[in-house]
Amino acid sequence: MYTLFISDLHLAPTHPELINFFLSFLQSKTKQADALYILGDFFEVWVGDDDKSEFAQTIIAALKSLTSRGLPVYFMHGNRDFLIGSQFLAETGCQLLADPSLIDLYGVPTLLMHGDTLCTQDMAYLRFREKARNPFYQRLFLSLPLFIRNRIARYLRNKSSQQTNIEYLNLSDAAPTAILEVIQQYQAEQLIHGHTHRPCIQTYYGIPPWKRIVLSDWHAQGNALICFPDKTQRLLYFP
Ligand code: MN
Repeated sequence: MYTLFISDLHLAPTHPELINFFLSFLQSKTKQADALYILGDFFEVWVGDDDKSEFAQTIIAALKSLTSRGLPVYFMHGNRDFLIGSQFLAETGCQLLADPSLIDLYGVPTLLMHGDTLCTQDMAYLRFREKARNPFYQRLFLSLPLFIRNRIARYLRNKSSQQTNIEYLNLSDAAPTAILEVIQQYQAEQLIHGHTHRPCIQTYYGIPPWKRIVLSDWHAQGNALICFPDKTQRLLYFP
């Protein structure tokens, strides 16, 4: 038995090979699992639960097949799929996790986050985030027709993909002070997050010692964190 964590798959209808890859991951890795945690940016973009595309239906059915055989699947919003709502949760049987969430992972107090709020140097993004997470703006956006929402999402994505200079890459990494702050605030012995696409398992020798585990994106290869009841853990990569 073990617990699986994944994040930043960035699933999109334009990448059918990634969808198939995710489906085969579910087939091969979840049979023995105690739980599956999805820590955000599962979708490249999500503009509302009323998306009835074949793509959306395929993913919803795959998650539903897990939860209906009793596997708990937890979902945390990322900065691209924060509009996942109650309809998606009802259709998949996934349970929404707040960001951050403190869980008991085989006896280890473990803090789960998507990771975007750790990038405290990126002020422009944090300002955008505050607006994007405002329920009033969300209702306004969701009241637009689906094709307009898709168009706005595409526009925002193009804009952010132009920001790839070195300075931005530094800003978009997790700030050590922000990491230490949440670890202390939640008295966690372990922090698991994604978002930065800089996978690692780091041990910090404080009092008490703690660990930070960063999940990889699925751009070049699949990645999952596997945690066992004896407290060992590994980042799994699959081609
Ligand atoms: Mn992200």
